[in-house]
Amino acid sequence: MAEELNPFKIAQEQLDEAAGIMGLDRQAHAILREPKRTLIMSIPVRMDDNTTEVFTGFRVQYNDARGPAKGGIRFHPQESLDTVKALAAWMTWKCSLADIPFGGGKGGIVCDTKKMSEKEIEALTRAYARHLGTDIGAAVDVPAPDVYTNPQTMAWILDEHINITRKVQFGSITGKPVELWGSEGRMDSTARGGMFVMREAAKMLNIDAKKAKIAVQGFGNAGKYAYELSKEVMGASVVAISDSEGGVYDPDGLDLQKLESTKASTGSVMNYESKNAQKLTNDQLLQLDVDILIPAAIENQVRQDNADKIKCKLLLELANGPVTPEANEILFEKGITDLPDFLVNSGGVIGSYYEWVQNITGDYWDTDVFYAKLDKKITRSFNDTVAMQKSYADKGKKINYRMAAYIIAVGRVAKAMKARGWY
Ligand code: GLU
Repeated sequence: MAEELNPFKIAQEQLDEAAGIMGLDRQAHAILREPKRTLIMSIPVRMDDNTTEVFTGFRVQYNDARGPAKGGIRFHPQESLDTVKALAAWMTWKCSLADIPFGGGKGGIVCDTKKMSEKEIEALTRAYARHLGTDIGAAVDVPAPDVYTNPQTMAWILDEHINITRKVQFGSITGKPVELWGSEGRMDSTARGGMFVMREAAKMLNIDAKKAKIAVQGFGNAGKYAYELSKEVMGASVVAISDSEGGVYDPDGLDLQKLESTKASTGSVMNYESKNAQKLTNDQLLQLDVDILIPAAIENQVRQDNADKIKCKLLLELANGPVTPEANEILFEKGITDLPDFLVNSGGVIGSYYEWVQNITGDYWDTDVFYAKLDKKITRSFNDTVAMQKSYADKGKKINYRMAAYIIAVGRVAKAMKARGWY
């Protein structure tokens, strides 16, 4: 039977599995299987040719037991309510595992920004913010950037939000430009956090970071910085990288500036040229014989049909949901260490948390303070996850790292719901 790739079904199945292993209370489990609040918006926007297009937007506030909902906003042509619900659930686990005072949320608009002008994107973003109204805010639900959104998108939302609430409160949204009190360090914090996890995991697996060969799928905010920081944090070399069109492999390593100029002039990094460069499809990139594989693009990339061909020792899920449950099992059987998305990419939301703290207190930090705090926090999450996995192994039950992380995250949310009297 074909693999079921509905992200929300996957998120629910993962929760069900964790609930079974940890013996979660039946009522807590029932609450956590569905989002607390779902907003579906129909958003008319005047386009450049003066006609009106109607876009569909979503915001899901999955759970706020431990704090305001928190999570990014995606602009994607294949966006769906189920994708946003899944991502909002994963944000809940991500914030809980990182032990920061937020619940989980996510937003999205079904749109293809590649086919829109800057003016149309701004109009759509502002209209979305007006539709959200006071359903977002520093103590309600705090959005951030995600796939095809960026600090400028956040600035437009903030501007609308200030006009709606009549309060100049910068903590209502994170991932802002630094001139609007976005935090120094937030821009690359998803990848930097991932690199700290990579450093710890490499130590655990006896991988020599300086000699390690790395392949990165994706050239967006996560992938591009993962490329840069693999060198800075680990001294490692990236031999393959891709974007949505395709990728490039060069055993001698790749040059970032050249990748960027190739992408700017030809539309894709796959047209990168050098003596030994070879073009690759995204699927071929995933199957390269490398030490570390970093899927940093979108969900459902490693699936039942290609998982068996994955050859890395360590797989770091820097994207959200890149490995399906069936693939997860295959990788586990093959002995590949697959570290879950909501641990590996939690540097992004941890960075957002630091931005929010600085906005609320008005006390701004140097980047070295930001990096040191991020390192400490994400390294603790990694150690907690490894310890949880080991505690089950000691009891004779082999679980993967995703389940270990789930058990920690779900346990904390369940305790908060219990204390608040939800069950
Ligand atoms: N979009 C990022 C994520 O999926 C960051 C979310 C945030 O900072 O709120 O983790």
